[in-house]
Amino acid sequence: MTKFEALGLKKTLLDAIVDMGFETPSEVQEMAIPILLEGDTDLVALAQTGTGKTAAFGFPLIQKIDANSKTTQGLILSPTRELCMQITNEMQAYSKYERGINVVAVYGGASITDQARQIKRGAQIVVATPGRMKDMMSRGLVDISKIDVCILDEADEMLNMGFYEDIKEILSDTPKEKNTWLFSATMPKEVATIAKKFMRNPQEITVGTKNSGASTVQHEYYVVGGRDRYPALKRLADTHPDIFSVIFCRTKRDTQKVAESLIEDGYNAGALHGDLSQNQRDLVMNAFRKKQIQMLVATDVAARGIDVDDITHVINYQLPDEIETYTHRSGRTGRAGKSGTSMVIITRSELRKIKAIENKIGQKFITKNIPSGMEICEIQLYHLANKIKDTEVNAQVEAYLPAITKVFEGIDRDELIKKVVSVEFTRFFNYYNKTKDLNASGSDRGDRDDRNSDRGNNNSGEIPTSGAVRYFINVGEKDDYDWMSLKDFLRDTLEVGQDDIFKVDVKESFSFFNTDASITPKILETFKDFKVEGRFVNVEISSNPGGGGGGSRSGSRDRNRGGGGGRDRSRGGDSGGYGGKKRERSSSSSKGGFKDDSGSKRRSGGNRSNSRSESKGGSKESSGGKSKRRSGFF
Ligand code: AMP
Repeated sequence: MTKFEALGLKKTLLDAIVDMGFETPSEVQEMAIPILLEGDTDLVALAQTGTGKTAAFGFPLIQKIDANSKTTQGLILSPTRELCMQITNEMQAYSKYERGINVVAVYGGASITDQARQIKRGAQIVVATPGRMKDMMSRGLVDISKIDVCILDEADEMLNMGFYEDIKEILSDTPKEKNTWLFSATMPKEVATIAKKFMRNPQEITVGTKNSGASTVQHEYYVVGGRDRYPALKRLADTHPDIFSVIFCRTKRDTQKVAESLIEDGYNAGALHGDLSQNQRDLVMNAFRKKQIQMLVATDVAARGIDVDDITHVINYQLPDEIETYTHRSGRTGRAGKSGTSMVIITRSELRKIKAIENKIGQKFITKNIPSGMEICEIQLYHLANKIKDTEVNAQVEAYLPAITKVFEGIDRDELIKKVVSVEFTRFFNYYNKTKDLNASGSDRGDRDDRNSDRGNNNSGEIPTSGAVRYFINVGEKDDYDWMSLKDFLRDTLEVGQDDIFKVDVKESFSFFNTDASITPKILETFKDFKVEGRFVNVEISSNPGGGGGGSRSGSRDRNRGGGGGRDRSRGGDSGGYGGKKRERSSSSSKGGFKDDSGSKRRSGGNRSNSRSESKGGSKESSGGKSKRRSGFF
């Protein structure tokens, strides 16, 4: 008896399992399948993606289906279109020897009429995203009033994406006596609430440690200066010539920018984020699946559907706001029993976040150094030598051999080897020959970079031309900003890079930030008569160098100086300032804040997309501005 047979699966499923090439059940399959086959029970399973959870619920579900009835008997809800399609494909493969079982996928961004037609033909199993499912229910295109089983897959992701209300409404249309099987990588409060509210005495299983990342993943961090993130990323890629990775950025802008830079620098890279059309996203994902793209740069939301095995590295170009998100990111590697590495590029000031993640995932990080230029050259050299050694000789070369041999006449073996490897090696050598050490050490580096914040600040009323410049801006905590969201807002508004805005210091009703003097004219121009939702947002140069003394000290100096009117006025008494606005505007508007009529806070960016629009093919994603207060875990 095989181990799968021992779980109680029927012959047709065992045959499909053989065809799939599964030899032994994974941990979650071993634990869940007997429970689910045995009786009518609800189940909460804590399992990462990549652990084989689709088969863990898929086999028992198929075994329970009455193929003679065309009624919908099983509903699987999953967070994204991509995941929905993947689950459907898997379910179809598992049920290949079943007669008359139809599995239909229902998701946004595709024809609802076609999907309705497929369901009408008889779909015993429907795999759906919550948004489209609700849509179809409201139009009477699907009937789930007789289902026996409802599966909530990646429940934490669905709730993260704001599907709580949809899920609630969908579940309320299902029979009370059905069974609910909930699968989730993590167990935040919201998932526990769903379990409590909609499930009856669920059995609970946990694969690995509760709330932990997959144990096959090694977690590493690299401390660099804030401005060195990108060169550090390149070195990490160059250190792993066969890398097949997902690189996570926090905003769509950074995602696009990093991907473009990588492509310009000759890497096989692609971007995946919510500003791309569904078609563009499909193209990128297909290229990634075929490994034509080695480095997929993605936002967290867009990456939710990525279900690709063999990812060797996850690189956190920036850390996410919430630890749970880190768990999801790192879970993209180390799948299906393979090992993987999750790397974090981090600045010194963010180091405390590592501790917080370690506590959450129950695993220690390894501190590593970004390799030096020469170390990379060496790695590349050996990689090249091995590649040449392992290259299969193309038979077509044979015909040209006499002529080619003639070209190499007089060059001995050693010389020839040196020349062959130099073809590629020189490219790396020339690039890395004189590069600096990127590792932030002690007090000299960190996210403060090479910039001298004390330089270039002026009291004279002139626009500084060099060094760092500190600014006052009339928005603060009252407007629901914290340093991260203000930085995002400024970067997106100004269309500047990740590290161009620094030393952001948010006070109650105003804030300060620094930039390099080179972008001062752009800032002053942009914030001339700049309004957000009818309110003037005012930016002026502060006479206070700020930041030079570091965090809180500089903060209090800023506060003292900026107190009252909320900004420094010693710059030649020009109340209009460089921003060119009258004082009344900013002070009156700061009373109004960014609140809407109902008193609730609004996004301040231009791009408001608080409502999820899955049915339009897009997913909710903050772009600049902010979509929620970023309190997170950090
Ligand atoms: P999942 O966690 O369902 O996303 O599955 C991750 C990957 O593991 C998928 O590619 C599955 O086809 C594969 N897989 C699932 N179960 C097994 C198994 N018992 N043996 C080998 N591979 C499996």
